[in-house]
Formats: sequence, C-alpha cells, structure tokens
Amino acid sequence: MTIAAAPQPVSAVSRTLIVGATGFMGRFIAEACLETGRPTYLLVRSSKPQTIKALQDKGAIIQLGSIKDQKFMEKLLKEHKIDVVISAVGGERILDQLCLIDAMKAVGTIKRFLPSEFGHDIDRADPVEPGLKMYKEKRMVRRAIEEKSIPFTYICCNSIAAWPYHDNTHPSEVLPPLDRFQIYGDGSVKAYFVAGTDIGKLTMQAVDDERTLNKSVHFRPACNFLNMNELAALWEKKLGRTLPRQTITEAHLLAAAAENIIPRSIVASLTHDIFIKGCQINFTIDGNKDLEATSLYPDIPFRSMADCFDDFVTHAAQKSQQPQKPHYQCQNSHVDGKTVEDIG
Ligand code: NDP
Repeated sequence: MTIAAAPQPVSAVSRTLIVGATGFMGRFIAEACLETGRPTYLLVRSSKPQTIKALQDKGAIIQLGSIKDQKFMEKLLKEHKIDVVISAVGGERILDQLCLIDAMKAVGTIKRFLPSEFGHDIDRADPVEPGLKMYKEKRMVRRAIEEKSIPFTYICCNSIAAWPYHDNTHPSEVLPPLDRFQIYGDGSVKAYFVAGTDIGKLTMQAVDDERTLNKSVHFRPACNFLNMNELAALWEKKLGRTLPRQTITEAHLLAAAAENIIPRSIVASLTHDIFIKGCQINFTIDGNKDLEATSLYPDIPFRSMADCFDDFVTHAAQKSQQPQKPHYQCQNSHVDGKTVEDIG
C-alpha cells in the first residue's frame, strides 16, 4: 500500500526564476523569494558580483545570461523546470522582455509570469513624456503576454516608501530632506507608500495565489496613504525640528520632464502624475480585473511610513558609532554631500 505524501505548500515547490535581482526592485523580490524556501534561480549578467554572492549565500541558484537570448532562455526554463518567472528589469530594458515572453510561449509550462511593473497601473495612468514612453513599452509587454496567453499577475505597488524626490529613481536609498522640503503643488494629493521589503513579501504572496491569476494586484495600505504635507510633518517629528517648505509648481515639474534627461525626467513626469494629477487614487478597484493587496492578505501587516523613516534615524545612529567616514551619502541636490549623521 502506498501512502500519499502530504501536499506541500505551493511556495515550497514552485521553481522560480527572477530576472533583475541585482537591481533596486529585484533585490527586494529575490530576498523575499529566498525567504519562502522555494528553489530560487536568478538570471544575472556579470555586473554586481557582491550582490550576486550575497544572494547566492542565501541559497540562490545563479544562472548567467540575458533574457534577450531566446534560445538560451528556452533551454534554461526547460532544463530547470521553471514554474514562475518574475522580471524586474529596469525602465530602459522593458522591451527586452518580449524575447522572454516568446521563450515562455515556446516552452509552454510557465504557470505564472510577473513582468517588470512594480509601480502604477500603466493602462490607467497617463503621464507626460518621457514617462509615457516607458508606460507605452510596459503596455506593449502586457499586450504580448495577453496575446500569447501567458498566465500573469501585474503588481501595481505604487510608490516606494521614501521621500518622493522628483529627480531620483531610487529614493529609498537617499535620506529624506534635511534642509528644506520641496512640496509638489499644494501638497494635498495623496499617494500610497510601500516599503521595499513589503513589495517583495506581498509579491511572493501573489505569485502562487489562484485568486491573482490574470489580474492586477494594487497595494493600497491605508496606514501609508499620505500627501506631501503629511509626509513632511511625519519626517519633522522624527527630526525633532521643522524645515522650511518650497513649493514646486506643476509648471516646474513639467519643465523638468520636458528636459528629457533620462532617467531624471521620467521621475519628474511620474511625480507630476502622482502628486498633481492623482494617478494612484483616481480610480476604484473593481474586483473583476483588479484586486487589492490588503484585502487579499488582511493578516499581513505593512510597515508604516513612520517605521520606514525610523530606519533612517537608526542607520544614522549606527553609522555615528563607526570611526571611519560613512559611505551612505545623500545623492540628491537638496542635501548634497550630507550624511545620515547630519540628522538632528
Ligand atoms: P534597476 O535598473 O535597478 O535594475 C534592473 C535589473 O535588470 C538589473 O539587475 C539588470 O542587470 C537587469 N537586467 C536588465 N536587462 C537585462 C537583461 N536583458 N537580461 C537580464 N537582466 C537584465 O531597475 P529598477 O529596480 O529601478 O526597476 C525595476 C522595475 O521597478 C521597473 O519596472 C521600474 O519601473 C520599477 N520601479 C518602481 C519604483 C517605485 O517606486 N514603485 C522605483 C524604482 C523602480 P545588470 O545589473 O546586469 O544591468
């Protein structure tokens, strides 16, 4: 008599390939994927050996190559029996995913594909150029997925938890302002802010969830639904002092977008879309094609924006105990040259 093995949780058996794990967003996804304990394959190119080694030490299986090589991708997907593919290629490489989609179609065994989205609902939002060009490319990727009947989930996680600088693609790597706030418009348009670790964690929840098949998942944590004025007040509380406010007008953001300096102008156009036009909040989630993450996973808490701001303070405290010159430098023009030790 044979005894049937107890069914394993899907997450323990889904063989998952992540593309772009050495990037800003991909790293959060890769870390969260490894934490689920599933076989985690990372497709990397040769850059960033330290990041690759750190992920390898956590159990990642490294594959060298590019998604632009369709034959190589087909071989990789087949040989390693990949079930799930998550892409986090950067904004300038979005169309590289078309080869990957062709490879997944040829193999025919992919149970779920998450393309590189991780922002707004690109079919609804309508930023000015040059953000629009990136959205048009992301839309092309969506249409290719749908035409080729690749099972998908689109992750619309909204803004990364950080001060939303209009000239920085990775604002959570930079301190919030120390000298003055730049407030977009009247500072009253709200947005959703989500910690990178939560983006990773919730993405991995959605990957194996039958409910999210061929749907968009929107991250709308009520605890982090804030406008610029509220965000500034929260940071002032952490700093223990107030900062002057400078208004950045709609015209200023449009001019920064029109400069067409990539990637900075893309960020300016998306900032305009979020904080002037309200692209994150001008639609409702219908439950038909769209689902909301806090409703899907009510037991999973989101990190609050207050906690995320505390991270900067903690980081500053840790660094101030180290004798050597800190390398965690502010990179944007408002606080150029300052380090986290300058807090307070
Ligand atoms: P990054 O530029 O930081 O990283 C891109 C990654 O993709 C790198 O690991 C890069 O590898 C890899 N890559 C690029 N092309 C290929 C290829 N042909 N084959 C294999 N790997 C490739 O990207 P981001 O993390 O900034 O962006 C990822 C997604 O997240 C984008 O869709 C972006 O719009 C979104 N995003 C959302 C944010 C938000 O606030 N909601 C903030 C930032 C990004 P290599 O290192 O070798 O170049």
